[in-house]
Amino acid sequence: MVTSHKDKNICVKCGIYQIECECGSIYVGETGRELNVRISEHKRSCNNGPNQDGFFSSGVSEHIWTEDGVHSIRWNEADVILQEPRFFQRKIKEAVIIKKKTALGIPLMNRRNERGCEWLHAYWDKLLIDIILRISQLCLSVRPSVTLDV
Ligand SMILES: [Zn+2]
Repeated sequence: MVTSHKDKNICVKCGIYQIECECGSIYVGETGRELNVRISEHKRSCNNGPNQDGFFSSGVSEHIWTEDGVHSIRWNEADVILQEPRFFQRKIKEAVIIKKKTALGIPLMNRRNERGCEWLHAYWDKLLIDIILRISQLCLSVRPSVTLDV
């Protein structure tokens, strides 16, 4: 893959990011903007709660407002776990990472309709997961030997 210096200067902190809650749940999201911009939106939603129609603009917000127990988001530890400035590749990688986390039994704050993997046909799972794991081995806290039966 060839990248120019110009490409590297575009959106250093964009890609697939992860937000953790003290309860052990995580949120996986993607953004083409700088991470701090997206994090600010999640924080605002957490402070505001649901809108007048009862809708939460963030899965993180919905988690802390609706799940039983005490929830404290580790904002300072939120970070990009995989950099990807390209839109389509970012969507695919987000979907695969969410699928992988789900397969590992990690509780997610992502709402079902935003888990991004519903549209990713199972046929592609194994191939995509293998590719993504090879690329992101150092970024993800999963062992490359872990395979997903699909
Ligand atoms: Zn929590």
